[in-house]
Amino acid sequence: MTRSKGVPMRTCVVCRKCFPKRELLRYVCAPADVTDRTFVPDPEQVMPGRGWYVCREGTCGERLEAARVRRKKFN
Ligand SMILES: [Zn+2]
Repeated sequence: MTRSKGVPMRTCVVCRKCFPKRELLRYVCAPADVTDRTFVPDPEQVMPGRGWYVCREGTCGERLEAARVRRKKFN
């Protein structure tokens, strides 16, 4: 059993737990000219820019979405 050696790990931005990168959902900050969405999902994990990784456990995805909506309201 080979355990996570050489597997890239990323931290979920919501719950701060570490997961193998490919088990996380990646979002990137949208370019400035995209005004209606702050985060865009990047299922292929290939888009340039700052990546946000969110795990699929619990409510992390929902909580990222909630943060996004809140931020939009302040703009
Ligand atoms: Zn999480």
